[in-house]
Amino acid sequence: MLDFRSDTVTRPSREMRNAMAHAEVGDDVYGDDPTVNSLQAFAAERFGFEAALFTATGTQANLLAIMSHCGRGDEYLCGQSAHNYRYEGGGAAVLGSVQPQPIENEPDGSICLDKARAAIKADDFHFAVTRLLSLENTIGGQALSLDYQRDARAFCDRHGLLLHLDGARVFNAAVTSNCDVTEITRHYHSVSVCLSKGLGAPAGSLLLGSKAFIDRATRLRKMVGGGMRQAGILAAAGRIALELGPLRLQDDHENAAYLSTGLSEIPELEVNPASTQTNIVYARCRAGRAGQLRDYLAERNILINAGDPIRFVTHLDVNRQDVDTLIDTVRRFYRA
Ligand SMILES: *Cc1c(COP(=O)(O)O)cnc(C)c1O
Repeated sequence: MLDFRSDTVTRPSREMRNAMAHAEVGDDVYGDDPTVNSLQAFAAERFGFEAALFTATGTQANLLAIMSHCGRGDEYLCGQSAHNYRYEGGGAAVLGSVQPQPIENEPDGSICLDKARAAIKADDFHFAVTRLLSLENTIGGQALSLDYQRDARAFCDRHGLLLHLDGARVFNAAVTSNCDVTEITRHYHSVSVCLSKGLGAPAGSLLLGSKAFIDRATRLRKMVGGGMRQAGILAAAGRIALELGPLRLQDDHENAAYLSTGLSEIPELEVNPASTQTNIVYARCRAGRAGQLRDYLAERNILINAGDPIRFVTHLDVNRQDVDTLIDTVRRFYRA
């Protein structure tokens, strides 16, 4: 089965399963799990923050970040297409009583800082208190520029806002920006990172920030039911994902670029190879037969999501030959 639906479908490697089987563990709610503690210390160092917290999911890490930065009746500015606005069940509002103020994303995924400025509420009791700007990198498969992120931090400092990064795929952004990940993360007060996508861990994310911020997030993690016990079993895989995962993301990007070029030669699809920056390729079906294409591919053991546009994602469980198989099969669908 070739699965291009997401990079979350990656399975743990033999090395990860081995590390999981032999991980030293303790009760992490007591702070006793040496493998979790070691992952958190390593991650804090790796991303250049005082402290880190291992969380069940990226959704949980973002929720804890927003709730740790903002109180009841505060608000956060975010993109209209931000994961932590659209795809997290409204958790910040529902569980945190924090109001989102979405702003239309620019075509490159950034949030125009003039529009953000206009969205900051005046000090008036009619309004929620604007506390936080949340960015996402990568967003829609695109990397935010380093200059933009530096400007965004200066903007937040000027207006007394905190700056959070949903960095689910921040290592993909670092590959595209051709820099160490800390060149990105240093602009933020907090960052969330998924270990369970292209990096290959079976589950788990990280939240990074100051010691005081992570202390608040740890309390909230328990509140939302995220205090896991012998979590070292997962952290052992997470450690390998964090150390080795980033080293092979370039392959995923090259496979995505190759896929993008291949699909762009199929007249029934609308693909812009120049817009493929990371491991995600978007294709629009001119004839609008995405559902039929999905079913045709599924019958031939290839999985895709049939959105408009269709999103194809490359990852460690698909290689160049698999991409060729996908392109050929799509071509045959349109010839049939
Ligand atoms: C996947 C993802 C998350 C969180 O995902 P989980 O499935 O909860 O781990 C957050 N933000 C972005 C941008 C993502 O792609």
